[in-house]
Amino acid sequence: MDSAENVVEVAGAHRRYGGGFEAVRGVSFQVARGEVFALLGANGAGKTSTVELLEGLARPSAGTVRVLGRDPYAERALVRPETGVMLQEGGFPSGLTVTETATMWAGCVSGARPVAEALRLVGLDARVGVRTGQLSGGERRRLDLALALLGRPRMLFLDEPTTGLDAQGRRDTWELVRGLTAEGTTVLLTTHYLEEAEALADRLAVMREGRIVACGTPAEVTGSRPSRISFDLPPGWFPGDLPPLPELGVLRHETFGQRVVLHTERLQPSLTALLGWAQDRRLDLDRLDARSASLEEAYLALTDGTTADGTTAEGVRR
Ligand code: ATP
Repeated sequence: MDSAENVVEVAGAHRRYGGGFEAVRGVSFQVARGEVFALLGANGAGKTSTVELLEGLARPSAGTVRVLGRDPYAERALVRPETGVMLQEGGFPSGLTVTETATMWAGCVSGARPVAEALRLVGLDARVGVRTGQLSGGERRRLDLALALLGRPRMLFLDEPTTGLDAQGRRDTWELVRGLTAEGTTVLLTTHYLEEAEALADRLAVMREGRIVACGTPAEVTGSRPSRISFDLPPGWFPGDLPPLPELGVLRHETFGQRVVLHTERLQPSLTALLGWAQDRRLDLDRLDARSASLEEAYLALTDGTTADGTTAEGVRR
C-alpha cells in the first residue's frame, strides 16, 4: 500500500504515564483512506491510550504517530479541524436542549454541516427540543456522534460508539459509519463488541498489555484459529474406529460419549476425508456441523495469550 494513502501511521509508539506505567509498548499499524480500523482488547489493554496519541491529546514517549501526514500533537491546530472525535463519555451541559448543544458545538467548528443534518444522521431528529439531561444513555451516545460529525471530518475516532445503544440503534450506527467511509472518511474505532468489529471493520488489531498481538482483516485474525467439525458417531462405532487423526488433517479431537469434535486448520480437506470415510462404510453422521472459528474464539485465545495447540499468538500477521 502506498504510504501516501495512509491516513494513520503509527510506528513503534510507546506511551508512559506520569507514574512510570507504560500503557502502550511499541505499537505499529496503518489505516488507509476510507478504511474502518478497529482496536480490540480487554479493559486496560491500552486502546484509549493509543487513540489519544492519534487525537493529539498526548505525545508518544517513543516512536512516531502521523494522522493525515502530520504529527497530531505538534501540529494539532492543523490536524484537529480535519478530525472528529467521539469520546467514551462526552458530557454535555444538562440545561441545554439537543439542538442548543449541537449549535453551540457547531460554533467552534469551521465549515460545520447544518445542525439539523447532523442530528438527522444519528436519528435524533425527533428529540431536538429535549434537554440533554433527559436523554437516555443511547441517545447521549448518538448526540456524541452527531457532534463528532459536525465538522465533516476526514478522520473519525469512535471510542466505543455503540455502548448503551439498543440493537436497532447499533445497526443504524453501523449503517451510518459505512455511509461515511463510502464517501472517503477514515474511521478508527474501539469496541468491546466483536460482532461490531466483524460487521464494520476492514481490518482490526487486538491489543494485550499495551502490545498488538494480532492485526489483519477479521478473516485473517479468525483464520489463525482451528476450525471445528462435530458429529455423532452411530451406535456401535467408537472414536478409535476413525482413521488416524493426521490422515484426516486433524490437530486434536475431543469426545463426549458418541459426540466427536475434530479441530483442524484445513477445514475442507479434513471434512472431505471424514465424509469419504463415512461414505465407504455407509454411515450417517448425525448432527454433523462444520464451521470456521469465530472472531470471538480467536479474540479470547489471543487475549489469553495462547492458541489451542499451545503456541503463542505470535504466528498471526502483524
Ligand atoms: P477500556 O477498554 O477499559 O477502555 P483501554 O484498553 O482503553 O481500556 P486504557 O484506558 O488505554 O485501556 O488504559 C491502559 C492502561 O493504562 C490501564 O492499565 C490504565 O489503568 C492505565 N492508565 C490509563 N490512564 C492513565 C493515567 N492517566 N495514568 C496512569 N495510568 C493510566
